[in-house]
Amino acid sequence: MNTSADNSLLLGGGKGRGLSAVLFPGSFDPFTKGHADIVRRALLMFDEVVIGVGYNGNKAGAVSPEERVEKIGKLYADNPRVRVDCYSGLTADFAKANGVVAIVRGVRSFADYEYEMQMADVNRQLFGIETIILPATPELAALSSSVVRELSHFGHDVSDLLP
Ligand code: ADP
Repeated sequence: MNTSADNSLLLGGGKGRGLSAVLFPGSFDPFTKGHADIVRRALLMFDEVVIGVGYNGNKAGAVSPEERVEKIGKLYADNPRVRVDCYSGLTADFAKANGVVAIVRGVRSFADYEYEMQMADVNRQLFGIETIILPATPELAALSSSVVRELSHFGHDVSDLLP
């Protein structure tokens, strides 16, 4: 019971293809060290991590999704196991289109946990996609994109918070 085929069945997908991919969806506005930590840990469990920059037309961020994809892509340019793309619409549809076996999300707080549990439930019940929830590394648990945006808005150097 210890073959990769068994493992992929355990994860609810993969079907013994040998390669398993996971989707890490988010706004990534901007992509922080906290996000990079989730990618690093997801790579310990999956062959490939697809970073999906999600956006909806109404909520334009300071940096366009395409620019975010380009920036994140540069960080992982030397890592063939990381792919970056953007999408609008349902995360579940993007997950299916990319053939991933699961979604991975990070959780920093009880508030995050409640939200993630709800989303995970919807994605499992309606779309048959499992979510793996990784607890934030404690030193990074206070780090969020909104904190970074706020600090840089007021002229603080945020380079320590970014990968
Ligand atoms: P969204 O707008 O979809 O919540 P974010 O870009 O804010 O997207 O975050 C994407 C994912 O990364 C979420 O699951 C979030 O909880 C997680 N995340 C954000 N910051 C951290 C951090 N410092 N440590 C661990 N996970 C994080």
